[in-house]
Amino acid sequence: MSDEIVQPGVGDPDDLERLWTPHRMAYIRGENKPADGTSGECPFCRIPALGDEEGLVVHRGELTYAVLNLYPYAPGHLMVCPYRHIADYTETTDAEAAEMADLTRAAMRVVRSVSGADGFNIGMNQGPIAGAGIAAHLHQHVVPRWLGDQNFMPIIGRTKTLPELLVDTRSLLADAWA
Ligand SMILES: [Zn+2]
Repeated sequence: MSDEIVQPGVGDPDDLERLWTPHRMAYIRGENKPADGTSGECPFCRIPALGDEEGLVVHRGELTYAVLNLYPYAPGHLMVCPYRHIADYTETTDAEAAEMADLTRAAMRVVRSVSGADGFNIGMNQGPIAGAGIAAHLHQHVVPRWLGDQNFMPIIGRTKTLPELLVDTRSLLADAWA
C-alpha cells in the first residue's frame, strides 16, 4: 500500500505561478491589530520611533513619512502617514496635506523607477466601514500595479522569504528615494 496521495480530477499543471501569501493570514486573523483607537496602541505612531529597517520606513519627511505595508497587496505597497495621530483627512493641516501629496508623488516616481510599475492605486480608506484596517491613524496607500499582476518585482528573487523580501524592497526604495 502506497502513501502517495492520489487526487483524481486535479487536472494538468498550468504555467501560472502561485503567489503564496501566508503573511496575509496574520492580517486576516487580526494580529497586530490595535486594541483601541488611542495613539498608545497605534502602529503608525510606533513606527517612526523604530529604525528604518525594523520599521520598514522608506522616507522620513518633516510632517509625514513613507513606510512599506507589512501586509502588501503588491510588492512595493507603501503608505504615506502623518506623524500626528489623526484619523480623518479633514484633520490635516495645510502643510501636512501638502507633504502627504509630495511624498505620494515621490513614492510613485521611486517605485516606478525601481520596478517599472505600469500603474498605481492610490487612496485612503476613511473609517472601518470604508475598509480602513487602522482607522484611527490616517494613511494613504500607494499600491503599484503591473500588467498581469500579481508578479513579484522582476528585480527581486522570488525564492526569498517574506521578511527578507520586505527588507530588500525597503532598501531598494530608500536608496532610489535618496
Ligand atoms: Zn497613530
